[in-house]
Amino acid sequence: MKSPAVTGKTRATIGLQVYEMKARNVVIGLIAASFLLAAGCSQTANGKVVVIEKTKTYHTAECRKIKMAKVVEMTKEEAKLDHDHPCPLCQPDKNIQ
Ligand SMILES: [Zn+2]
Repeated sequence: MKSPAVTGKTRATIGLQVYEMKARNVVIGLIAASFLLAAGCSQTANGKVVVIEKTKTYHTAECRKIKMAKVVEMTKEEAKLDHDHPCPLCQPDKNIQ
């Protein structure tokens, strides 16, 4: 019953399914990679401060002053090299090792 046209179509469909499976594996790989990256970030978050560029102050990640501001994350040492000042509210020098 199979005509050459149908066989060709079936092959194309199988090819597409294989492609979709590969694409899915890539997506799963990306998701896994982003999870690993997130895990890595939370580990390296220790010892880091959040700098508000505008006011040149550095804060802990929990400080309420950083909520509405444009911020950059860096180590306390980097912040000091950049002549930033510790926030008196969250006291990053005291609270971040
Ligand atoms: Zn602060």
